[in-house]
Amino acid sequence: MSDHNQVKITKMDFSGERTKAENPLKIQDLTFRDGQQSLFATRGRTEDMIPIAEMMDEVGFWALETWGGATFDAMHRFLNEDPWERIRTLKRYIKKTRFSMLLRGQNLVGYRNYADDVAKAFVERAAHNGIDIFRTFDALNDYRNFETVFPVIKECGKHFQGCICYSLTERRMGGEVYNLEYYSICIKDMAGLMAPYDAYVLVKAIKEAVSVPIHLHSHFTSGMSSMTHLKAVEAGVDILGTCMSPYGFRSSHPALGPLVMTLMGTNRDTGFDIKLLSSINAILEKEILPKYRYLLDDTKVSIIDTNVLVHQIPGGMLSNLVNQLREMDALDKLDKVYAELPKVREDLGQVPLVTPMSQIVATQAINNVLFDDEKERYKMITAQVKDLCYGLYGKTPAPINPKIQKKALKDYPGGEKPITCKPAKVIKPELDKAKEDVKGLAADLEDVLIYALYPVTGKRFLKWKYGKEEPPKEVRPRTLEDVKAEQELIKKARAGKLVEKKEKAAPSKGNNLRKFNVFIDDEYFEVGVEEVGGSPIVSYVQQAQSQIPAQQPVTVAPSPQVLPAAPQPQVPAAPVEQPAVPAKFTTTASKKAESDSEGTPLKAPMPGIIVSYKKQVGDSVNTGETVVILEAMKMENALPSPAGGTIKSINFAGGDSVARNDVLCVIT
Ligand code: MN
Repeated sequence: MSDHNQVKITKMDFSGERTKAENPLKIQDLTFRDGQQSLFATRGRTEDMIPIAEMMDEVGFWALETWGGATFDAMHRFLNEDPWERIRTLKRYIKKTRFSMLLRGQNLVGYRNYADDVAKAFVERAAHNGIDIFRTFDALNDYRNFETVFPVIKECGKHFQGCICYSLTERRMGGEVYNLEYYSICIKDMAGLMAPYDAYVLVKAIKEAVSVPIHLHSHFTSGMSSMTHLKAVEAGVDILGTCMSPYGFRSSHPALGPLVMTLMGTNRDTGFDIKLLSSINAILEKEILPKYRYLLDDTKVSIIDTNVLVHQIPGGMLSNLVNQLREMDALDKLDKVYAELPKVREDLGQVPLVTPMSQIVATQAINNVLFDDEKERYKMITAQVKDLCYGLYGKTPAPINPKIQKKALKDYPGGEKPITCKPAKVIKPELDKAKEDVKGLAADLEDVLIYALYPVTGKRFLKWKYGKEEPPKEVRPRTLEDVKAEQELIKKARAGKLVEKKEKAAPSKGNNLRKFNVFIDDEYFEVGVEEVGGSPIVSYVQQAQSQIPAQQPVTVAPSPQVLPAAPQPQVPAAPVEQPAVPAKFTTTASKKAESDSEGTPLKAPMPGIIVSYKKQVGDSVNTGETVVILEAMKMENALPSPAGGTIKSINFAGGDSVARNDVLCVIT
């Protein structure tokens, strides 16, 4: 390595002018994408980026990460926002700084490998709309999945950044799979696993071997990454990823400010204006972040999670995992799922836990914990695990457990023998069919791509976009006024004053008002009673002691029919203890009650969205045969028939959201 990148203090006296560093460290800002993805489940809205957009353009970033990853998914699914429009809008405010997106290789911004025609069209449209740098990774580090997108990126005249997903099988670097020979160029430490001295060794080795810039992307989750960043700088790293401080730390990234101060007066000084950074931070803190605070994981006080060194789950998916278990009423199984994760990961070839592999491994681990018994492991294998076993994602870093592979590929449509070629080779073109499917609904290629990548939720979004369907309340933005009103309520609740006066109902007190003390057990109320037109009305009830728990209005759980299946903060249904009686005697929806009385019901084992029914009413089925495909936690589950017979009734249709235990169909 040349001396060029070594850190040297060039100026000890800070009273004078700040001279331009000889080799400034370059910074990619992650606030708009990974920061809000890691902390706020990617719910950040474009309107909340605009207030700081022009200031961010002045900082001097190497690039701003504005797109990719979960943004495309979350925007059309939860925010009723067109993902393409975000790039175009931000581009109007940010004219100097390049835009970077995270591209999942042939997975694009979805959860499977798409056909070459879709991949080419997607990259071309992304470049056309304003993406300048394509930070490209593959969840298996199988670089054959770069072969289609790479030439398109170059043809569009854009910057290609190849990524290596940093992963471990041991606590530190080494072991059979992830040793030094495995890496080159750019490192994506999505779970914050990289220890500072490992970063030093790794970056130094790569710098000695290649001349292209080395970029480190490391999450803060375990608490190491600020130190890891510094050691990487000492080893000569060229570019680091950070966040504006309100979007930093926790499962996100180290904040920019401390790094700028650390390097000030050295030959790696970023040159960034610390005052500008603090005014951006102030806007975020006061005007933007209060709207998203409710999404922060407030279940713990600590902002670091050293547990991640054991389970290796990347930032963005930890909260999803907890939410999914909560929706399944299985939060008590969290520790079992953590224990199952490394086993599943080993069975599936020690894949890096990055999207979509992280979801694939986590969902399978949940399925194993919930549905396996002593007699049978891997009872419910997701469609994505089957695809992985078939080779549709590419080559796994270590071989897949042959027993699991054989089980997964039983009756697999492509055949029971896995492929070894580049996955896209066996995926037939998809774009023409997608165009045909949304004819009359999609206005341009961008619309078609939303559908091609996300058939169920993408189609629903297009209906919202063109006014063919009313978007539900849940997708509307929260305003600062909403937040203020909530904070007032919380304040009142804390002070024990949550009994609200019905303002309209209370007439002014007259001369005939009489006061009564009303005693209930050891509490008493002062009640004012005044006779009006012959019949006494209670004009006010004041709680005299604060021991009575304030009566909260009962929140009715929203109907599962209108809710998207994926995690969102929701009021759990009232925790009514269900007596152990047959389902038909409980007060559930009539659909369930009716259908339980005759025949065998197939119930949803978890909340999700129906992808499709494989059988129609009147069809005969065998026990174990697939009847319904249910999307849950972004994975598809083939639900087997619990009995042999004939499909008597089908209660839902493709695209419907279902709750756990909803009866999907009945077999007689
Ligand atoms: Mn990341």
